[in-house]
Amino acid sequence: MRSDASDGNTSAADAISGPFPDRSHNHKHCIDEAFSRAERLCADRGLRLTTLRRAVLKIIWEGHHPAGAYDILDRLKEQGRSAAPMTVYRTLDFLMEHGLVHRLASRNAFVGCDHPGDRHRGQFLMCRDCGMVAEMADPRITAAIHTTAASTGFAIETPVVEVTGLCGDCVDNAGSSPDES
Ligand SMILES: [Zn+2]
Ligand SMILES: [Zn+2]
Ligand SMILES: [Zn+2]
Repeated sequence: MRSDASDGNTSAADAISGPFPDRSHNHKHCIDEAFSRAERLCADRGLRLTTLRRAVLKIIWEGHHPAGAYDILDRLKEQGRSAAPMTVYRTLDFLMEHGLVHRLASRNAFVGCDHPGDRHRGQFLMCRDCGMVAEMADPRITAAIHTTAASTGFAIETPVVEVTGLCGDCVDNAGSSPDES
């Protein structure tokens, strides 16, 4: 049982070490943090966080669940923004290139990264029940992948690790309600 209810003061480092956010956490804080990091990164690199880039990043950060390209297109349409699919794909490429979002190949969907700027290809724990995704960026895992690949002459293309299972809350729920209908 975690009792550290969000007080709005949790740092980005806390969010990384989670790795699953508490269900009762203040997600607005995650969104605000994500945008201040994105703005800082764009300013540092002389990039523009255009209206569409912002809108797509916001949609991806609506939760800690991956958003597919079609979901994103639908949400943009709901918001009255007409963007051609190619434009949205280019926007996603931009966000990925700068580490603001990661693509989960097994879901063909995108999640926001809470520590863009560090060059990393994350490892992801993906709950198959609630859909929540938690990112780890454990340098030991990355190092092990690179060491083993190098020793066998394997040329890595996508070093992303995607692990499926049940998050702690979903494990608890599964155990506490055996007679759910
Ligand atoms: Zn959150
Ligand atoms: Zn990341
Ligand atoms: Zn879950």
